[in-house]
Amino acid sequence: MGLKIWLNDKLVDEADAKVSVFDHGLLYGDGVFEGIRVYSGKVFELKAHIDRLYESASAIRLKMPVDRETMTDYLLQTVAANNLDDGYVRLVVTRGVGTLGLNPLVCEKGQIIIIAATIQLYPREIYENGLKVISANTMRNHPLAVSPQIKSLNYLNNILAKLEALDRDMLEAIMYNHMGYVAEATGDNVFVVRAGKVYSPPISAGSLEGITRAVVIKLARELGYDVLEQNLTRYDLYVADEIFLTGTAAEVIGVVEIDGRTIGMGKPGPITRELLAKFEAYVRQ
Ligand code: PMP
Repeated sequence: MGLKIWLNDKLVDEADAKVSVFDHGLLYGDGVFEGIRVYSGKVFELKAHIDRLYESASAIRLKMPVDRETMTDYLLQTVAANNLDDGYVRLVVTRGVGTLGLNPLVCEKGQIIIIAATIQLYPREIYENGLKVISANTMRNHPLAVSPQIKSLNYLNNILAKLEALDRDMLEAIMYNHMGYVAEATGDNVFVVRAGKVYSPPISAGSLEGITRAVVIKLARELGYDVLEQNLTRYDLYVADEIFLTGTAAEVIGVVEIDGRTIGMGKPGPITRELLAKFEAYVRQ
């Protein structure tokens, strides 16, 4: 039996979940989305995700077809209809059906798509042994282009960096901004540990305002660590004691190599492991 997919105003069978080829989400990547986790039957940080979705929509002047409460209700209905206890929800709002041509104003109504399924970004083994990454040549979107804070359907910037990693048999790439500072990984935020302190680039360095990032900062502070949001260079990554990435799908994952340089002891470090354990406990509270 297939999934039940939310399409606009109702649940439909997976086989019937079809959208028009004239949807500008498809034609131009014109739309916004969220990736959200469900842990032990509870949607994790739901309000933060709904807020970010509406802020992304507002930034691209996409008129949302329903209000936040209704969207939340649709999402919860989709999770329930698929009996999802532990999983991943993809919530997409496209600009809607239009004509050929960029003009978004001809798209009458945004389309809502909600898929409640599962995701495994990295094999379990990588959480124990750590991830190897490269520095991407593809620069993160300039803040005067599409803002990196918008979670839009147009991920080409990050996809190009991801391809650079895959070309070298690696799964992730670190992206830098137009000034050479660390922005983020292609689908995750970046953290560095040095001399017992935890660092993450500020959002203004060109990253998505990660919801996992915010939770991990809170948990790290609760554990007594100093967490500083400051610009980081490639050098800071090379000399880090630990590097880890955070994201909805990845959760907390250690990085053990960048550009051929081993980080720390070549295994996820103690603070990374402590934060992963704390995060895993927190999401099931
Ligand atoms: N940066 C990018 C580009 C992302 O797509 C994501 C989400 N996968 C993140 C960072 C992490 O954000 P969050 O913790 O909210 O999932």
